[in-house]
Amino acid sequence: MKKFAVVGNPIAHSRSPEIHVAFARQTHIDLSYDRILAPLDGFASTIKDFFAQGGDGLNITVPFKEEAFALCNVLTERAKAARAVNTLWMQDGQLHGDNTDGAGLVNAMTALTWPLNPSRILILGAGGATRGVVLPLANAGATEIVIANRTFARAESLVEDLSAFIKNTKLHVTALDQLAGHFDLVINATSASLSGEGIALPEILTFNYAYEMAYGKPSSFIDQAKQRAVPTADGLGMLIGQAAEAFFVWNGVNPDLTNFSL
Ligand code: NDP
Repeated sequence: MKKFAVVGNPIAHSRSPEIHVAFARQTHIDLSYDRILAPLDGFASTIKDFFAQGGDGLNITVPFKEEAFALCNVLTERAKAARAVNTLWMQDGQLHGDNTDGAGLVNAMTALTWPLNPSRILILGAGGATRGVVLPLANAGATEIVIANRTFARAESLVEDLSAFIKNTKLHVTALDQLAGHFDLVINATSASLSGEGIALPEILTFNYAYEMAYGKPSSFIDQAKQRAVPTADGLGMLIGQAAEAFFVWNGVNPDLTNFSL
């Protein structure tokens, strides 16, 4: 039996096990998929132990994606651009890393028929998830992507890292307390809703669509978008999309997402 897991902190909310078990049933692959809570100062030893005990692959979630990137010996191109990794596996004694978040988000947007090409996108947050989605959104046709983060310097360094990979999309930073202007799409890629906190969206910020990357939690971001009668979605579609990509990376089989639901 192949052995997989998702590592994060917190982790109890993760629906990745359900999704991978459903994919395994559909594709007749014998596997287990667990949740692992890693201590905030013990991520590296957690993943080392997992692979030492014969584990086949890990998904990585909040807040470890950048740390996972730093531990990899071999990276895919999209992981190199993101400098954040959500999918790990061991091959020939080398730790390999990929980032499937962006493909998952773009697939979810496509399924929702939300337009990306052309589009002006505001992303709230500059953590591992944002790092994973900027290049795929640019490749999907975004003309401008603006990043706003509580810690301004973190957004600046993200833009610096990703600029080298982005050709035809304007990429820049704004302060989280100076949100303004009109966007086709606003994405909440902060983990604020995981801790029950919220980000106030000012009236001078307007947008056509609102995507909350978190799922299964009340979200003041979604509430505020609904008050403006804007179409909203939570991160479940992205989660399923990134899981399907990771499943393919590990097992070489694409799950069928037509009519897939949990
Ligand atoms: P990280 O821990 O790497 O980054 C967290 C981000 O949230 C940082 O930008 C941080 O700002 C910001 N933040 C946290 N709390 C607050 C707050 N109270 N107010 C404002 N900003 C805040 O997490 P990830 O990037 O990996 O994940 C972000 C979110 O996306 C999570 O909710 C996660 O569950 C979700 N996600 C969903 C996926 C899916 O498939 N649906 C895939 C990946 C992520 P600062 O830099 O200032 O600390």
